[in-house]
Amino acid sequence: MAKLYFRYGVMGSSKSAQALITKFNYEEQGMRVWLLKPAADTRNGVGNVHSRIGLEKPADAVTDDMDLYEIFRDREKEFNDVIIVDEAQFLHPSHVEQLRDIVDNYNVPVFCFGLRTDFRTKMFPGSARLFELADSISELKTVCTCGGKAMVNARIDGEGNVITEGEQLYIGGNESYRPMCYKCWKKAQQKEVEEA
Ligand SMILES: [Zn+2]
Repeated sequence: MAKLYFRYGVMGSSKSAQALITKFNYEEQGMRVWLLKPAADTRNGVGNVHSRIGLEKPADAVTDDMDLYEIFRDREKEFNDVIIVDEAQFLHPSHVEQLRDIVDNYNVPVFCFGLRTDFRTKMFPGSARLFELADSISELKTVCTCGGKAMVNARIDGEGNVITEGEQLYIGGNESYRPMCYKCWKKAQQKEVEEA
């Protein structure tokens, strides 16, 4: 039986690289892969899965109004072996339900790679639905500067301060993100309050 997989991790935990390696492994076995990426993520151009280590592959952009189940049903012969989604936290919850139905009705495995939480440590709606519906959930890990396991995607402003307010979906600009453990993330905020 095919499964719905959710592989989550903070930024810098090699999610995109793992997505592309998974695609490579299936294609090496002669299988067809439908690679998807939500259109909400425009950092490296819509329609590309890009990894920091230099891997890049074209992907179909998913917009909120798309019904993935209908598209898959109509184009089944093009890609009916496996589906891989990068930046899956930006999926609409209904997309996750559509993918779940593809898994069950077509016996096609679906691998979703994405963040668990945003820079405020709040879960993305797409990720929440994946936690609710996935058959297999595992964490891709990376380290904080202290050596502990990173679990927060800290948003950093131009001065290097940790930001805890703003839009969940804000991407780019002068801000960047840093994987941190919860303890260091809290400590960085306290230090900023003391210095202010
Ligand atoms: Zn730390």
